Amino acid sequence: MKLNWNKGENGLLPVIVQDATNKQVLMLGYMNEEAFEKTTSEKRVTFYSRSKKRLWTKGESSENYLDVVSISTDCDSDSILIQANPQGPTCHTGKTSCFEAGEEVRFRESENKFTINDLEKTIHQRIDDQVEGSYTYSLIQKGINKVAQKVGEEAVETVIDAINGKEEDFIYEAGDLMYHYLVLLKAKGYSLHDIEAELAKRHLKK
Ligand code: AMP
Ligand code: ZN
Ligand code: ZN
Ligand code: ZN
Repeated sequence: MKLNWNKGENGLLPVIVQDATNKQVLMLGYMNEEAFEKTTSEKRVTFYSRSKKRLWTKGESSENYLDVVSISTDCDSDSILIQANPQGPTCHTGKTSCFEAGEEVRFRESENKFTINDLEKTIHQRIDDQVEGSYTYSLIQKGINKVAQKVGEEAVETVIDAINGKEEDFIYEAGDLMYHYLVLLKAKGYSLHDIEAELAKRHLKK
């Protein structure tokens, strides 16, 4: 892989790391040639840390390594994009992405202010933090059977409204189903990330 090492300041090129499964941007770091060689040979991301002034394998103390899936260069070979499988939260604050730990200034309303990922995050927070008074937390306390049964009920309601319900009823029940499905995944110890990984396997098989 050809890289323009002398274009970077002090021989350092910027590296963007994204989650190979859901493409979320996890962090930005810098590599010198030595860090790059170590990364490719170990298939695990090693940066050159400008503050530590040494090679830094992400995860060296936290064990939240970034296992490399692919490496790309940009048009003029002076920046690097790495797709990786994170072994845990990438940010030292405990957030999945370093860009969740910083500030955000919005300049426009986005089309989808609330994504399925946002919903999942909220569900996990209610359960992990055992939020009293939360419907999600009270549901999970009733046990896996109850959660699974709710998914069944919402699936049936969705099917009924798909066949002969009003449009708005269908959308309402489909929303209910999605919510309860995410709660069931969590109750079983899984997340959408696991589902995406499973589906990706099948997608690649074809
Ligand atoms: P780790 O590489 O995850 O074992 O973390 C080692 C040290 O590197 C932490 O104590 C932090 O000081 C720093 N660190 C870890 N993750 C990040 C990150 N995503 N961005 C900046 N510094 C980090
Ligand atoms: Zn460039
Ligand atoms: Zn961070
Ligand atoms: Zn319902």
